[in-house]
Amino acid sequence: MNKRLVILGGGESGVGSAVLGLKQGYEVFLSDMGTIKPEYAAQLQRYGVPYEQGGHTPALILNAHEVVKSPGIPDTAPLVQQLVAAGTPILSEIEFAGRYTSAKMVCITGSNGKTTTTSLLYYMLQQAGFNVGLGGNIGKSFALQVATENFDYYVLELSSFQLDNMYTFKADVAILLNITPDHLDRYDYKLESYARSKLRIAQNMDANGTFIYCADDELSTKYLAEANVQAQVVPFSMNKTCDTRHAICENVSRTSHIEHRTSNNGAFLNDNKLTSMYHNDTFEMLAGELSLKGKHNLYNSMAATIAGQALRIRKETIRQSLSSFKSIEHRLEPVLKVGGMLFVNDSKATNINSTWYALESMTTPTVWIVGGKDKGNDYSELSELVRLKVKAIVCLGVDNSKIHAAFGSIVDTIVDTQSAEAAVKAAYSLGEKGDTVLLSPACASFDLFQSYEDRGKQFKEAVKKL
Ligand code: ADP
Repeated sequence: MNKRLVILGGGESGVGSAVLGLKQGYEVFLSDMGTIKPEYAAQLQRYGVPYEQGGHTPALILNAHEVVKSPGIPDTAPLVQQLVAAGTPILSEIEFAGRYTSAKMVCITGSNGKTTTTSLLYYMLQQAGFNVGLGGNIGKSFALQVATENFDYYVLELSSFQLDNMYTFKADVAILLNITPDHLDRYDYKLESYARSKLRIAQNMDANGTFIYCADDELSTKYLAEANVQAQVVPFSMNKTCDTRHAICENVSRTSHIEHRTSNNGAFLNDNKLTSMYHNDTFEMLAGELSLKGKHNLYNSMAATIAGQALRIRKETIRQSLSSFKSIEHRLEPVLKVGGMLFVNDSKATNINSTWYALESMTTPTVWIVGGKDKGNDYSELSELVRLKVKAIVCLGVDNSKIHAAFGSIVDTIVDTQSAEAAVKAAYSLGEKGDTVLLSPACASFDLFQSYEDRGKQFKEAVKKL
């Protein structure tokens, strides 16, 4: 009898898992509490996958041998709890699909910067001529590609929710960009649970693997020290000023097990040059030549450089990739110059940390468009940068009271708007030639928009209409 595979969630990852499950000889059933998008329903029908939507039928689910759960479904969902109580293995799409490919896995996680760094690395591997797929939280599902393609490498963006249901999956190169409090509602409001989930990216790695992390990030450093990572650990840092002979290990190693594996490897900033040492191979590039701007992107570029070296990509190819990569939509994306003002779309900045980096990267007086659905923001973390860089604030949200309270004494002009068009018009009238108008909301978009993409697109449309 075929093993029964039940898939919870009929989105990109669920449908991909269903197709792969069929191909691997499972008896597959897919169930979704909500409505399955027409294109996914059509795909399920085309492959002949039985499915239900608009509710779960326990009898068709609790008899599963294994369950693949969409990362969007929390562990507290009653059906998930019943499956856990029955001892049914619950896997993420990545864990499931990872069983059926021997491709090398380059995996990226972190609270911020995942999509940017994943896209940058994918681009670099393509430039290097690798037969490579892109997956995880981005693009086509990893499972569908394992079912229908034959890649030698994958670059995968992994969220903590995916990592939570990964057990035997092994990364060959792993990047942990940073850990800042996010999604804590899914982790019993325990930071350590969220942080440990991020470090699962390194589980199962051995000494042949390369684990890359930010030594300037306190939480990454703290939780790495207790994680017993078996891979070679390679740090990147901007704060540590060290000479190339000693790299940055003395500053980053808190425990001996990290120390002996870091050796001299690491990336840092030396004389305005991104310098990365990996097994006696030194890569150097002027920071000004990187195509992605801002301090956060320097971190992302450092991480990608080390990964490129670990994959033995030629230095010239790494350099050319870092200088020619085009920034991705909604992430510090330059839109247009109107009346000498540059409009920048950073709609993806949905928390304080990412907005901090956006403000930090501003080199002109800035009219800042901020606001939306706040996930418990502490705006005081931005006070210093706002004082230095922001000349006027345009609030774009239903409830802007916290923004007024936080910045009312720092910035003279704060106006309220409730549409992208009104925000753009207000910003335009408050700015002057040479300024930057930055949409970096530090908030989710759901009070006024469907998604951060919708918010960014409406912003760009409004700029084009000016
Ligand atoms: P993620 O996929 O982790 O959400 P993105 O690459 O989509 O990350 O970027 C999300 C937001 O965070 C953007 O506003 C971007 O400018 C900012 N950002 C990118 N990289 C970093 C980083 N290393 N640290 C902090 N913020 C970052």
